[in-house]
Amino acid sequence: MIVDERIAAYIFSLEQEMPEKLSEIEKQALVDYVPIIKKPTQSLLRFMLRSLRPENILEVGAAVGFSSLLMSEYMGEDCHITTIEKMPERIEKAKENITYVGREDKITLIEGDAADVLEQLAAEGRQFDFMFMDAAKGQYINFLPNIMKMLPAGGILISDNVLQDGDVVQSRYGVTRRNRTIHSRMREYLYELTHMKEFDTIVLPIGDGVTLSTRI
Ligand code: SAM
Repeated sequence: MIVDERIAAYIFSLEQEMPEKLSEIEKQALVDYVPIIKKPTQSLLRFMLRSLRPENILEVGAAVGFSSLLMSEYMGEDCHITTIEKMPERIEKAKENITYVGREDKITLIEGDAADVLEQLAAEGRQFDFMFMDAAKGQYINFLPNIMKMLPAGGILISDNVLQDGDVVQSRYGVTRRNRTIHSRMREYLYELTHMKEFDTIVLPIGDGVTLSTRI
């Protein structure tokens, strides 16, 4: 937690309840230790979707479908979500959850490694005006070239977990050896997002750290 827990709890106490089926899916995911978006990121997505009203959403990292289902709740009538997941047991659960909420016509789940799927979607000339990056943190930087091909001017890229629970501000030696590669790749990713001439990016210390990047 990178924000004071009391402040986070207070802000959360102001939030409205989410629909019951979503709440059930969220609870089950937490019981099963599936890493889903935290409350502040949920609120941010809801707000962004209602403000921007995108037409085509791409999510990288579906897990059990919770964030896609949450986005489908707040997006416009004609909007569609394409989401990518590679772990077979999560794919099965995501399909089950999407059917449970009745969003089969709103959410397309693509099974496979995002590196390959993004390459394919970009080669097909697909465009997405709202992208949510929530997969393996060390890979964000590798996904960026294909993400750029598919994001039109005015489109938005939201990346979750960019502050690694605060670890990203540590020196490379302050993090465990296991996390050092992710640490340096995430720093590289943050540097790219904030210095690329194609993007205007803001880094927000909410949840586990989120960036909002708009394509200029
Ligand atoms: N967005 C989900 C939510 O909030 O409900 C949580 C996503 S979870 C943080 C990250 C997911 O990305 C995991 O289920 C993991 O299997 C998946 N993932 C990681 N690297 C991936 C890759 N290269 N291709 C596809 N999925 C990947």
